[in-house]
This record gives sequence, structure tokens and C-alpha cells, in this order.
Amino acid sequence: MAKTSSSDLDLPSRPPPLSPAFGESGTTIFTTMSALSAKHDCVNLGQGFPDVDGPAKIKEVAAKHLLEKAQQYCPAAGVPELRAAIAAHSAKFCSLPVDAESGVVVTAGATEALAAAILAFVAPGDRVVLLDPSYDSYAPIVRAAGGEVVALPLRPPRAAGEEEGGSVSSWSLPDAADLRDAIGARHTKLVVVNSPHNPTGKVFTGPELELLAGIVREGHPDGRCLFLLDEVYQHLVHPPKERTTPTLGDGGGESERARREPEAPKHASLASLPGMAQRCVRVGSAGKTFSLTGFKVGWATSSNPALTSALFRAHQFLTFCVPPSLQAGVAAGFAECSPYFLGLGAELARKRARLERWVGEAGFRPLPAEGTYFLVADAAALMAPSETDAGFCVRLAEEGRVAAIPLSAFYNNKSGAPKTLVRFCLCKRDEVLDEGGRRLRSFWEEQRKK
Ligand code: PMP
Ligand code: GLN
Repeated sequence: MAKTSSSDLDLPSRPPPLSPAFGESGTTIFTTMSALSAKHDCVNLGQGFPDVDGPAKIKEVAAKHLLEKAQQYCPAAGVPELRAAIAAHSAKFCSLPVDAESGVVVTAGATEALAAAILAFVAPGDRVVLLDPSYDSYAPIVRAAGGEVVALPLRPPRAAGEEEGGSVSSWSLPDAADLRDAIGARHTKLVVVNSPHNPTGKVFTGPELELLAGIVREGHPDGRCLFLLDEVYQHLVHPPKERTTPTLGDGGGESERARREPEAPKHASLASLPGMAQRCVRVGSAGKTFSLTGFKVGWATSSNPALTSALFRAHQFLTFCVPPSLQAGVAAGFAECSPYFLGLGAELARKRARLERWVGEAGFRPLPAEGTYFLVADAAALMAPSETDAGFCVRLAEEGRVAAIPLSAFYNNKSGAPKTLVRFCLCKRDEVLDEGGRRLRSFWEEQRKK
């Protein structure tokens, strides 16, 4: 046998042949900015996570389960109590009945549910329509599945006084004709709709969802084109001001009471539109619903068991099953902690108003939004002439000691990305928002001296 020479053992000098889906992407913008935040001791308003954990009950049940129950593989689709709770939640909050046995898959966070759905539905050559800015995990998985990303940009809200562009009060959909061309194309297999939307905070309106549903209905009467609905922020809709301000007066009666009591914000799902339930998979996350992002418990549901069954087959080879103790905790959360998630929208609306005041005082123009953890603001007045939004966020972390996320990071077509928008995370304790706000204001004062 030939002797092995030392050069045979050397690592090859050329980089290994990686899949371009992941080999070409760096670390996510959230990891990058959190690392920069730690390095410069920033107030971290970048990566989206609350700094106060959700209900203690959920952690207690999970911990007790971990110590007292068997910690072996559980059913791959999820423990029965949690699947039943998720099915009941779908019926109660979206009027979408799903079968707990065949219509629910518990996943390792919403991230895995999204990946499993894309891998299950997208074949090489299929087109997947995304609305930019879009959450960063969609496109790499579409490409890994051999699909083609077709990204259409949402139009940013127009500043008061600006003539051109979309609506003043909200981000808006691309032109219907462009949507029809992209979605109606023969090879379009999947349309991803994220509402409430990260990073913009937009909550899609009924007519907008109707438009998207109508295009799919007309363009694909054979039912071939599906919707993947990323609804992780379902309970994080910020109630409009009039809903949070109780009406005074002591009138009785149902309608008077309805006006007086702050209503739980309503989430509209595209899946509840006529004919859509069969084409939709909805994705949720305990991380967002119960402010426990480190649990990484998510789920996918559909009223069409053929869809959940395909997704389940991908899930079995991605993770197989999710830690049963965490699932037990989340099941207890659904059973006992609904006041918690029903109150989140109003709490976040209050935090949004607080952060909005600070960023406004610091020279940014806050953009309107209706939900989520995020506030997008225009930093044009603080930016150097040739600075990019990413360069600005690095400088803001280094000099201002506040971490934020450049919006261009969420664009698949970089050339269409706005150049001066940044995203701040608002789900932080008031004192943290205030410290971030003071630092932003000092940074602005320094900019004005330059
Ligand atoms: N979708 C969107 C729009 C998100 O913002 C996030 C993360 N915040 C996810 C999916 C992933 O959620 P999870 O942490 O449950 O995987
Ligand atoms: N979804 C979070 C955000 O938008 C980040 C999650 C992550 O870091 N993967 O900030």
C-alpha cells in the first residue's frame, strides 16, 4: 500500500465547494449587529427580542416537566396538548378550524416552520414571490430548494408634502399590474405574506389581502399556487389610539361597553378569505406570543391536511421533534396566559409612542406602523452625503452606542432598497428605551456640530 505523504493530509488550499444558498451569505444582520452592540456596549435596539420574559408559569411548567417527566423523543408533529391548544387558538382568533391531528405541526421556532414549508412546496424551477423588505430567512431556503426568488418592493410611506409615492399613512403594496405579472406567472408556486410585517410594522389591510388572494384565485384556478403566511406577530397589532382611550360615561348596554373597554386588536389572516384556507399554511411562534424567543417553539397550521402532511415530511428530516418540556410550557401558556398575549399590542403601542418621541427628538423621521416589535425611521438628516444605511448603523453603534438594523438588509433587490431607513426594536423596558433615546439625542447633537 502506498505510504501517505504529509501533503496528502494537508487541507485543500481551495475553498470547499459549498452550496451557494448558504455559502455566499454571511452571518445574519441580527448576529452582526448584536456582536457590534456587545463590542461597543450599546443599547441594543437591533435584534428583535423583548428584554423581559413572558409568563413565569410557562417557564415553571417547562422546568417541572424537564425534571420530572421522561425526556425522550416525543411525537414528531408535537405533543398532543400543544397541538390541541394551537388548533383551538386558530379557531378562536382567526375563525380557522384546523384538525389537531392532521393540521398542526410543532416546529423549532417559526424559522423551522417556514423552512419546512418552503422545502416541502418548492421544487427546482418554481418561483416564489416575496414582498421586499422581507424577513431574512425566506430567500436562502427558497434558493436551497432550487426555487427562484421574485421580490417585489412595498412602497414606503410618503413624507407629508412629498408628491410622489405611496400612501402617507402606511407602506403599500406594489402596483396591482406588477403583482399580477409576478404572482400570475405559470411557475409561481408560493407567495409569502408576512402580516404584521417585519421590519416595517405594517399590518396588511382587508382590501390588500383580498387583492393578493384574488390574483392567486384568478391566476391559478388549478390551486397550484399556495400562500405561506408568516403571522408570528399576530398578537402584536398596536390598537389605534381611539381603541385604547376608554370613552367616559356610564351608559350600559353591549355597544357602550364595547366602546369603553379596550378591544383586543384584531388580526386578519388571508387564510380566512373565501377559498383560501385550502391554499394557505399559517406560521406562528411562541417566541413572539409569549415573549420567550429563546424557547424556539413555533408551529405551522393548515385547514388542508395535504399541506401540513407535506410540511411534516420535511420537518421529520430537519429536527424530527421539538423538546417536549418546552412544548408543555407553551401548552400551559395557551391554557392559562391568554390575557398576557391579548395585552401585548397595547403595551407595544405605548412603547412605540415613547421611542417615537425620542427618535423624533434625535433628528430621525419615524415612519407610521401598526404592529410588531419595530419602528422604522428615516435617518437622512443624520447621514453623511455618501453614507449607506449599513455604514450609518455601524457608525451609530461605534459613536452613538445604539444598535439598529439597516433596512437594506431586508431587500433581495438591493438596487430597489431605500437608502436612509433604519429599524429600531421597541420591545424593551422603558428605562432602556430612555437610555437609548438619550444616546440618540447626544449623537444628533454631535452630528449638528460637524
Ligand atoms: N418570521 C418573522 C417575520 C420574524 O420576525 C421572526 C423572528 N423574529 C421569525 C419568523 C422567526 O421566529 P422564531 O424565533 O420563532 O423562529
Ligand atoms: N426576528 C428577529 C429580528 O427580526 C431576529 C431573529 C434572529 O436573530 N434570527 O430581529
